[in-house]
Amino acid sequence: MTLDEADRLDAADPLASARERFCLPDGVIYLDGNSLGALPKSAPSALATTAERQWGADLIASWNKNRWIDWPVEIAAKLARIVGARPNELLIADSTSVCLFKLLAAAVRARPGRRTILSHRANFPTDLYVAQGLADMLAVEVKAVAPDEVLDAIDGDTAVVSLTHVDYRSASIYDMRAINEAAHEAGALTVWDLSHSAGAVELDLGGSGCDLAVGCGYKYLTGGPGAPAFIYVAERLQDELANPLQGWMGHAEPFAFVDDYRPASGMLKFLTGTPSVLSLAALDAGITTFDGISMSDIEAKSRKLSQLFVDEVEARSGNEVRLASPRDPTQRGSHVVFAHPEGYAVMQALIARGVIGDFRAPDLMRFGFTPLYTRYVDVVGAAEILAEILASREWDQPRFKARAKVT
Ligand SMILES: *Cc1c(COP(=O)(O)O)cnc(C)c1O
Repeated sequence: MTLDEADRLDAADPLASARERFCLPDGVIYLDGNSLGALPKSAPSALATTAERQWGADLIASWNKNRWIDWPVEIAAKLARIVGARPNELLIADSTSVCLFKLLAAAVRARPGRRTILSHRANFPTDLYVAQGLADMLAVEVKAVAPDEVLDAIDGDTAVVSLTHVDYRSASIYDMRAINEAAHEAGALTVWDLSHSAGAVELDLGGSGCDLAVGCGYKYLTGGPGAPAFIYVAERLQDELANPLQGWMGHAEPFAFVDDYRPASGMLKFLTGTPSVLSLAALDAGITTFDGISMSDIEAKSRKLSQLFVDEVEARSGNEVRLASPRDPTQRGSHVVFAHPEGYAVMQALIARGVIGDFRAPDLMRFGFTPLYTRYVDVVGAAEILAEILASREWDQPRFKARAKVT
């Protein structure tokens, strides 16, 4: 496809105008929204209002007057449509890792006598690390099997199945419904990490029988660096599960200042400490960028963008790189990985030319497609520049081979 042909696809794209909701620097093709979403245009003024008018002028009255105290619930409610859950099943809190700790611990304690947290090898590291630490504390075990062996590994000893819905490396998608059904059949619970799903693929947490889930606020949800995460607990489980990190914000009456813990009802009990108000203001701006846009349109565009990239890269550079994501677009999330033995250097050379993706060890170049702001011309342009860099071996320079702290 030529850039002119891609331009015509953009002109006919029903989501084209959503790009206006973001600040994107000129001359940059940003394909890393799966790691840090772009800045929503409304975020700086939302942050300024929260800081200057609310914190600055209203001071502590803001907790009531500007409803800061309700933001973890109010902002979570706006996510309901995006993840296919009910508003009263969601809460914004902490980081993904901490939320995962809370839900895994709650799940293990809700299935006494069962000794296994089941996950898969090469799951996102934090998911495995959290499970390993928790297993030591609760005297249970983490069983990490090959990704395609999870279904068969669910048994009567499984307390909880902990999986990432869209794999952060390959972008392959787990069949949520099948895993949930098998887990329930065996009497186990499921915790899904939706970090690479929320805002990129159409989800129906309720309809597919999910028990528990967490997800990241700073990727497709564009909540800003270090944005708080979200927690989902199916309504049917909310009374049964307890928050292992009890704190005053999850108390039934935080301002009664009593000595003994009594959990709030519903999702509020999953709060621990004071919410990060400034970060919540930015996350709210991010979630608002989805207003008026259907998740089915987002998923449809995501598949078109990622498939176009696969086709264009393979047509131009098929003998140099290897597709390391599923070939079937319905089996992928919203990013694509190509392997190259010098993937790190190639990615640095791409970044130097304004095409921003990222690198995941050992040899994977990762390219994320964010339907709200990625254009078809970006996809074709990125494939063209990648082909030039590979053909000319532009990447083969010492300056592209020194590893930075963050890759
Ligand atoms: C990005 C990501 C996280 C992030 O966890 P934090 O605690 O917010 O740093 C967790 N899980 C997965 C699968 C991710 O992709």
